[in-house]
Amino acid sequence: MKTLKIAIQKSGRLNEKSVELLKNCGLSFENYKSSLISSVSNFPLEILFLRDDDIPEYVQDGIADIGIVGENVIAETKVEVAYLQRLGFGKCKLKLAVPVNSTLSNIQDLNGKAVATSYPVILEKFFNDNNIKADIKMISGSVEIAPGLGLSDAIFDIVSTGGTLKSNGLKPFADVMSSEAILIGRNGEEENPLIQELIQRIQSVLRAKE
Ligand code: ATP
Ligand code: ZN
Repeated sequence: MKTLKIAIQKSGRLNEKSVELLKNCGLSFENYKSSLISSVSNFPLEILFLRDDDIPEYVQDGIADIGIVGENVIAETKVEVAYLQRLGFGKCKLKLAVPVNSTLSNIQDLNGKAVATSYPVILEKFFNDNNIKADIKMISGSVEIAPGLGLSDAIFDIVSTGGTLKSNGLKPFADVMSSEAILIGRNGEEENPLIQELIQRIQSVLRAKE
């Protein structure tokens, strides 16, 4: 049978948990930090270590058969992939936040305002769904300093504890999306027996954790 390829994050918040999950599935492989590909010795599987942002596209285009990535990344890239299994780690929320002294009181008050974010696709969809016309300012990092610099009236960002918001004089304003790590595949290929075998193993690992 053709060797399966799985794409996981090379380094970052999902890397360690993704590697641990695969090891707990009984897969043997070397986790070389320097290499981009690792072969599993006891299952027809190759592991590709990639930047998380590239994973949905690699899966959609068939470079990898399956992948582990945050739901927020899938939502941001506009690709069409199949959700195979929620994985229960990498949990976070994407929220709108405003300066603590802001007079904005509900999301409709964002009409005509500027909102800074690194997640313009998710934010634009939220604004469309809620009939809000706001100016989305795309910036690639340190979004939480934008209101203080006068660039925006609000921000839209990943928030886990809220500590970063607080230390930048911001407060949560509205929850837009919850995200966790997901196993994704290509639409129509869910029935591949190797993929099914892996999903079975992952589900037993998740059940054992409950
Ligand atoms: P890469 O170098 O692979 O592009 P990155 O810097 O974009 O990595 P990480 O910060 O490692 O990404 O986050 C990976 C994923 O972890 C996020 O897309 C999100 O789904 C999840 N996550 C969980 N908690 C947080 C958090 N507090 N901040 C950011 N991401 C989080
Ligand atoms: Zn990334």
